[in-house]
Formats: sequence, structure tokens, C-alpha cells
Amino acid sequence: MASEFAPCSEAQKQAVLDRLQVIRQNIADACREAGRTEQEVTLMAVTKTVSPELINLAVDAGVTTLGENRVQEFLSKCDAYRKEAEVQFIGHLQTNKVKQIIDRVTLIHSVDSLHLAEAVSKAAASKGITMPVLLEVNIGGEASKSGVSPAELPDLLKAVQQLPNLRTDGLMTIPPPMTDEDEQIRVFTEMRELFDRLRQSVPMQTLSMGMSGDYAAAIRCGSTLVRIGSALFGARYYPPKPEG
Ligand SMILES: *Cc1c(COP(=O)(O)O)cnc(C)c1O
Repeated sequence: MASEFAPCSEAQKQAVLDRLQVIRQNIADACREAGRTEQEVTLMAVTKTVSPELINLAVDAGVTTLGENRVQEFLSKCDAYRKEAEVQFIGHLQTNKVKQIIDRVTLIHSVDSLHLAEAVSKAAASKGITMPVLLEVNIGGEASKSGVSPAELPDLLKAVQQLPNLRTDGLMTIPPPMTDEDEQIRVFTEMRELFDRLRQSVPMQTLSMGMSGDYAAAIRCGSTLVRIGSALFGARYYPPKPEG
């Protein structure tokens, strides 16, 4: 299905490499400001709408982690991916689709209900594996967003820990789009405090927060994984859907 993507021009490829360099520099700067080392922060390339050709270019340039949103799109592209990078699932996941991705990803960022966690554990058991997951927190409290509320999080964490074939490695959040840096810092700090509080009783390593518009602030607040799409690959183009 890679054929639905037109070949990329040299200029497009160079633009991705140039943006990757800028992002790496920004990550290094944010780490230095926060007294952290760059090794503490993983740069994930978010691949939605992006051709395997450009994704592989990023992998060849050293990107180690790819982030997938949509099951169908992922399955149509994944055979064309370089095998050097690990793939993690970051999108909203329906329970009936878990089986299709369970042995193709190394981490699921978007577990936000016990129902989904049970489906992940069951699918992992059928493959004889334990699946690491993050619990997705709706830190902005937006009704439209997925994620569990901070108030409900401790109970979900406790319930999920009882499941045999799943391990909770940390938390993930997609805050409302914020352009004001003070606002970014306030929200990410809230998330970090929640993470630290829960870590007193449950060992967790991963705090997945920060996207193209706010990753520097997220890193300064303790993010260990930033999910970057448009700042790396350029603005996303969604072709018009055919009728019917
Ligand atoms: C699309 C997406 C991203 C990346 O968004 P950008 O703003 O383009 O960096 C990160 N996380 C999730 C869950 C996404 O769906």
C-alpha cells in the first residue's frame, strides 16, 4: 500500500533532516536548562499521514521510536518500515482492534479504561507476552478528550496492576493545545507531580508528554518521551474522503 504515497523529492527529504537537527538541538537545550541528560528523553517520530519513505529516512538518521495513531494506517505501512526502530501505539484504541497490533508494538501509550486494559492483557496472553502500557490521563479535563481523570487514575492503576499480561510503565497525556508557555509549564508540572506521587507506590519510568508545539516545556517539566509529528515531517495533509 506504500504505493499510495508519491515518491518524495530531495527537497522534502532534506527538510525532514534539517528539522530533525533543530529538534535535537532544542531537546538538548531543554535538557541542559533542566539539568537533565539527553539520554533521559526519547524522541518519538509520529508517523500519521507520513510516507514510509520519509519515516525510514528519519530512522536512518537515528530516530529509534515511531508512534502510530491508527490501526488501519499502521498495518498498511508497517511492512515497509525499517526494522531498526521500535513502534509504539499512541492513538485511541478500540478493544476489538487490540489483537491486530499486540505483537507489532512495544508499548501502548493510550490505555484509559479497565475494559481496554483487560483486552490488552488477554491479547498479550494469547501471544505469550507481557505488554507494557502507559495510562492516558486527561489532564486538561476536556470532555472531548480521551484519558482518565487525575481523580480516577489511582483506582485504574490499582485495577490494571492485577492483570496478568500487562505492565504499567508510566503515564501519557495530550493536553489541550497551549501556546502560552506559562500555561504549558503549569499543566506539565501538574502531570509530573501526579507521576511522582504514584511512583512512590508503583515503579514507573515513562512520562510521555510534549508534542510539536510544547515539547521543550514538557522536557523542562520532566517528560521522558516527546511525541513529535508536524515539527519533524511538516504539516499533515489529509486527502478528502471519497463519498459513500
Ligand atoms: C498526532 C499526535 C502527536 C504529534 O502531534 P504534532 O503536534 O504534529 O507533533 C502526538 N501525540 C499524539 C497522541 C498524536 O495523535
